[in-house]
Amino acid sequence: MITPHLLPQIITAIAAVIENNAEEVTLLDQAIGDGDHVINLQRGLQALVLQQEELSQLDWPKAWQKIGMTLMSSVGGASGSLYATLFMALSKTHVELDVSLQSFSNAFSAAVDAVKKRGKSDAGEKTLLDVYIPVANYLKSVTNVEIDLATLLNEVSAVAIRGMESTRDMLATKGRASFLEERSLGHIDAGAKTAQLMICTIVDILVK
Ligand code: ADP
Ligand code: MG
Repeated sequence: MITPHLLPQIITAIAAVIENNAEEVTLLDQAIGDGDHVINLQRGLQALVLQQEELSQLDWPKAWQKIGMTLMSSVGGASGSLYATLFMALSKTHVELDVSLQSFSNAFSAAVDAVKKRGKSDAGEKTLLDVYIPVANYLKSVTNVEIDLATLLNEVSAVAIRGMESTRDMLATKGRASFLEERSLGHIDAGAKTAQLMICTIVDILVK
C-alpha cells in the first residue's frame, strides 16, 4: 500500500536529485528564462524537508493540502503557484490512504486540469505541462487494463522523459520563455526538466 509514510523518503530523494541537477537546470532556465527555477524549487523543498515527519503522519488529502500550502508560501515564481495548485487540487479529490490506480489517475488528471486553468496553458506550450499532461493521459489510459505495477511505473518514467525532451523543439507561448519567441526553440524547458526528474525519482522509490 502506498501511504504518506513514504513522503520523507520521497521528499529527501527529490531534494537530492534537484541538487545533483542544479547546474544543468539553471543553465536551461538561464537560456530562455531568468535562471531562478532551481532556487525557487529548493526553497520549497527545504520547507518540505522540515515538515516531512509531520506530513508522513497525515492521510493523503491532508498531506497534499499541507504540501500545497507550504509550496504556495515558499516557492515563488510561476512554478510556485502552479505546484501549489497541483497539490491543493489533489487534496480536494479526497483520495484516501489506500490509493488505487483508478482513484489516483482520476485525481491526478483533475489536478493537472487545475494547473492548466491556473496557468492558462495547455500541452505544446513548452512548459512543465508537457510532462504532466502526457503522464496524466497515460495513467488514465491504463486504468482498466491488466498491467503489473512495475511495468506501469517504468512506462510513467518513459512518458515523462519523452515529454521533457519534446519541449526542446517547441515554441514557448507561456511564461518568460515566450518573450524570446523563435529564440526559445532548441532549448529544453527548465520546468519540464525538473518535473521529469521528480516523477522519475518517485517512480524509482515506488518500484523498489
Ligand atoms: P518564473 O518563470 O516566474 O521565473 P520559475 O523559474 O520557478 O518561475 O518556473 C519557470 C517554469 O514554470 C517554466 O520553465 C515553465 O515550465 C513553468 N511555467 C511558467 N509559466 C507557465 C504557465 N503559464 N503554465 C504552465 N507552466 C508555466
Ligand atoms: Mg524563473
